[in-house]
Amino acid sequence: MDRDPILLTPGPLTTTLRTKLAMLKDWGSWDADFNAVTARLRSQLLDIVHGHDTHVVVPLQGSGTFSVEAAVATVVPRDGHVLVLDNGAYCKRAAKLTQLMGRRASVIAFGEDEAVSPRVLETKLAKDASITHVILIHCETGTGVLNPFAEVAAVCERAGRGLIVDAMSSFGAIEIDARTMRFDALVAASGKCLEGVPGMGFVFLRKAILDACAGNSQSLAMDLYDQHQYMEKTTQWRFTPPTHVMVALAEAVAQFVEEGGQAARGARYADNCRILIEGLAALGLEPFLRAELQAPIIVTFHAPKHPAYDFKRFYAAAKARGFILYPGKLTEVETFRVGCIGAIGRNEMTQAVNAVGDALREMGIPTPG
Ligand SMILES: *Cc1c(COP(=O)(O)O)cnc(C)c1O
Repeated sequence: MDRDPILLTPGPLTTTLRTKLAMLKDWGSWDADFNAVTARLRSQLLDIVHGHDTHVVVPLQGSGTFSVEAAVATVVPRDGHVLVLDNGAYCKRAAKLTQLMGRRASVIAFGEDEAVSPRVLETKLAKDASITHVILIHCETGTGVLNPFAEVAAVCERAGRGLIVDAMSSFGAIEIDARTMRFDALVAASGKCLEGVPGMGFVFLRKAILDACAGNSQSLAMDLYDQHQYMEKTTQWRFTPPTHVMVALAEAVAQFVEEGGQAARGARYADNCRILIEGLAALGLEPFLRAELQAPIIVTFHAPKHPAYDFKRFYAAAKARGFILYPGKLTEVETFRVGCIGAIGRNEMTQAVNAVGDALREMGIPTPG
């Protein structure tokens, strides 16, 4: 059938027709009409975190990781020392990119099935005055754990250290309030919970640290300070903008606002997540995480113990039924992941549960009931 499969992945994800249609137009990057779209979008992004008084937002070309790199390069001085709170794959990626950019990086390791601990962080910061910045992954997409952002922000503020947050997979779905949660930089992207298409990220930078960021970046293209200065001066992007991605994101954000903003988006995803977990539980499939740690973004499930199980076959059988699943990212246990985000609701999640049941039975794996 000539129909796109539903993407049950953490981005790219299923978008609305309205968002897709917004891309059927060419824009001049120097043109006032396009620059007005950029300006309006930046203002709407600040609305989402209540950040107009405290932060600026700087868009950047590339996938989400490009913006994480840019945030670290821009905010952390070259002799800075970054502590990464590590409970999964995206935390490890943040530590690696920090190190590759020549900044000193340390890691506190937590279990993949637990949240990072603000108390352990507090003790570590008290013992090591050389740590200048902390990196937190808000929702660790590798497993689906929601980390305690507000508590970590409070610890960093009390200890007088900078905080960089990768909120890639939580932004727009989970509450983030710049008035009460202090962060120096917060990173998100177009192709996640705002339901745009992939191709650009954006970084909120705290106004109070902005001047001190000049000259930190060892990279020309990744320098968010420069990107911000240029944009303020000219209203334009510094280098060629991803015009189609930008206007698609603007259209996606218009729909986000119409839906009722973060609260409504978060509620729809929570509903999707509940249908998924209850539906798969009825098929005998158990989530990897305890319920209180689970973000309503992506769910890691234990693979069936049955000898006939094979992820590649399972994936193909689900795809044949119109649903794209996601492999697990854990080394110790065999898992698979299912996303709850994107322009999907109850109908799609219920159909996805049915597709998973049919796929298992096709593989010869019996399901309860
Ligand atoms: C998606 C994601 C990223 C960015 O990944 P890209 O593949 O570069 O888009 C970074 N951090 C987290 C937590 C993510 O979920």
